[in-house]
Amino acid sequence: MERLFYFKVPRAHYKADAFILWCFDERFDSFEDRNPFVRLVFWLLNLVGFKQFNPEPSLLRAYVKSVGLKHPDVVKWGGGGKALGTLSDQEIAEALFGQMELSERLHGAKEFHIAVAHSNCGGLPGFENDPDGEDRHHRDLVAKVVRIVGERFPEKKIVGIFPRFDGVYRVAERVRLR
Ligand SMILES: [Zn+2]
Repeated sequence: MERLFYFKVPRAHYKADAFILWCFDERFDSFEDRNPFVRLVFWLLNLVGFKQFNPEPSLLRAYVKSVGLKHPDVVKWGGGGKALGTLSDQEIAEALFGQMELSERLHGAKEFHIAVAHSNCGGLPGFENDPDGEDRHHRDLVAKVVRIVGERFPEKKIVGIFPRFDGVYRVAERVRLR
């Protein structure tokens, strides 16, 4: 085989501070370079205390930074954690639970952050002209998913989030029981 390029990956093992489930929609974890001027302005605003301006290159990275995570295990799945709240998707839900258990076993993940779809997600019914309806639908679905994951992992902190085009919203949170 042939090495395509050189890149130094750290060998040291790590403790995952969280497990994150996120949709694979590239807009919400973009590989496209963000305008460097905008990033610079946001970086400066952030530096002087306006924390709502986030200079990170993608929404997922901005979320990770904003909640203070350093080494999250990230699983991307179409629709994020939507299947966890849908009775007809039990096989997918079990596979996603399996990934959470693996992250916990291998890296000791203590918190689970579950993005349930996002604005304009292909995995959900269209809400093109009804942003309030979309928000309502998500509030209910995210709360349900947080409850279901919490029942499965009573010792974990579960955070239910909704990524939108204007940032990430925390919808529901369940603190660990012990
Ligand atoms: Zn999606």
